[in-house]
Amino acid sequence: MEKSILIIYTGGTIGMVNDPETGVLCPFNFNQIASEVPEIREFGFTIDNHALPEIIDSSDLSPRLWVDLCRVILDNYARYHGFVILHGTDTMAYSASALSFMLERLGKPVVFTGSQLPIGKIRTDGKENLIAAIEIAAAYEGDVPLVPEVSILFGDRLFRGNRTTKVNAESFGAFRSFNYPPLAEIGIHVHYNREAILPPPSSPLSPAAFCDLDTRVAILKIFPGMSADVVDAMIHIPGLRGMILETYGSGNAPTRADFLDKIREALDAGIVIYNVTQCAGGSVEMGKYETSRELLRAGVVSGRDITTEAAICKMMRVLGEHDDPAEIRRQLNANLRGEISLNK
Ligand code: ASP
Repeated sequence: MEKSILIIYTGGTIGMVNDPETGVLCPFNFNQIASEVPEIREFGFTIDNHALPEIIDSSDLSPRLWVDLCRVILDNYARYHGFVILHGTDTMAYSASALSFMLERLGKPVVFTGSQLPIGKIRTDGKENLIAAIEIAAAYEGDVPLVPEVSILFGDRLFRGNRTTKVNAESFGAFRSFNYPPLAEIGIHVHYNREAILPPPSSPLSPAAFCDLDTRVAILKIFPGMSADVVDAMIHIPGLRGMILETYGSGNAPTRADFLDKIREALDAGIVIYNVTQCAGGSVEMGKYETSRELLRAGVVSGRDITTEAAICKMMRVLGEHDDPAEIRRQLNANLRGEISLNK
């Protein structure tokens, strides 16, 4: 059967071309993607396009876009073998994380990609990224897709979306996944790391999306000299339900009484606190040092080796679905979509 891929365009640098008259960069006519990148015809696939109604620089991203993306994917799920999402790089790791938590029983590839240079520029990385993303979205063995999960293709690597972080504003290798191996390496051939890829869902039920995210969350990055007033201001944000605490190293924070008192006050008020390390790689291990034992005692939940991008999206999803504090803690502790390593 002929392969069919849906490319969903949200905006970002990848979609920019030079206006021939003014020389200024402007969004390209997405319907003409095959004339911008004629190589994709050589696949012999059916490649359709869907542009979201509002094309954005991804810094203007809001969860509304995630809901729109889920809807487009589910509405077209039966008709396509895989989905490629063209997205700005700035917040791609957030969107890929969010979709991984929102989409349930996903059994087909959803590959995010973008570029550092616009597709209309002579040295663009956009064409290669797009071509590789299409190839991966269409990669099947019989009826089984090789990468049935939400991923990010950038440069010569395919990463799990919720393990990925943007690390460079200029390099063509803009993304890294410090705590999880690449799902594929792209060279002359695409080498799939099959052991690292999530299996297709075992449930016979159709895929669905959970869209009721709770955005009453915040991120507090601690720094030497941070006064308790900073914590106080944060925890008194009206309606706040969840806070990512970005800690040092393996989950360490000051042991000062005024700081810990504020953390306890937040927990007593029912705010869930998720401990995520400021380090790019490695894991939170609460209790390893004196400086994290108090957080553990107070009831802070360990984010283990989760990225901040994945943590905030996971929290929105978990808080959107649950009210019971014990269940919220259970879900945050659990590995829902391959976003944390439980053996660390
Ligand atoms: N500001 C752009 C965006 O994220 C950057 C890019 O696409 O690389 O939409």
